[in-house]
Amino acid sequence: MTSWEQLLERARPQASPLRDEMEQYARDFHVPIMDVEGIETLKTLLRLQKPKRLLEIGSAIGYSALQIAEALPDVHITTIERDDERYERACAFIERSDANDRITVHHADALEFELSSDERFDALFIDAAKGQYQRFFEKYEPYVQPGGIIYCDNMFMHGELFTPLEDIKRRRRTMIRNLKQFVDWLIAHESYDVSFLNVGDGIAIAQKKDKK
Ligand code: SAH
Ligand code: MG
Repeated sequence: MTSWEQLLERARPQASPLRDEMEQYARDFHVPIMDVEGIETLKTLLRLQKPKRLLEIGSAIGYSALQIAEALPDVHITTIERDDERYERACAFIERSDANDRITVHHADALEFELSSDERFDALFIDAAKGQYQRFFEKYEPYVQPGGIIYCDNMFMHGELFTPLEDIKRRRRTMIRNLKQFVDWLIAHESYDVSFLNVGDGIAIAQKKDKK
């Protein structure tokens, strides 16, 4: 063993042609799916948490949803994707897995989508437009049970979270400003215990406190 990447690769579950094909598709068409370190860590956290129902915002081609469903045999996943092409791809890939009957993909903008009011989730995974995280969080956190956990991907944005705004490219500035504000807001949130993992592109973990 000569590198961290090699160790990660060796520790993954057995080879999966479908997983390989999705990773290749993501490389070929520049779809920003989680990297190996990020997805394996998220799967580990979820195996410890054992959620029965998980809501994902931002399915892309269904890679993380499928990885999670295959890692947790009891979980049911609801996932939302607004992009036409990616939604179609997600459905087509998921259809090919045995886990397909535990994943529901909705084709919608998550900021406009309406869940039925009695739906509840043990886990929420936010991985969509990075400038909108606070809006996703505020809209969907009421559906998370007390004790439930909200995971957010790409918190570091390849280091841009820690870069002064004036050094960020102009067209990305609003997004990064929003992300910085979201981090401050989340840390100050009184109903959640919050921590950050320096894995993948940065993962935030916020656990909803039980009501006293
Ligand atoms: N979770 C996926 C990657 C998601 S990439 C994985 O790791 O495999 C982010 C996705 O969020 C993109 O496909 C983008 O189209 C989608 N997205 C961004 N904003 C959205 C919104 N408001 N509603 C629904 N999907 C959104
Ligand atoms: Mg991501």
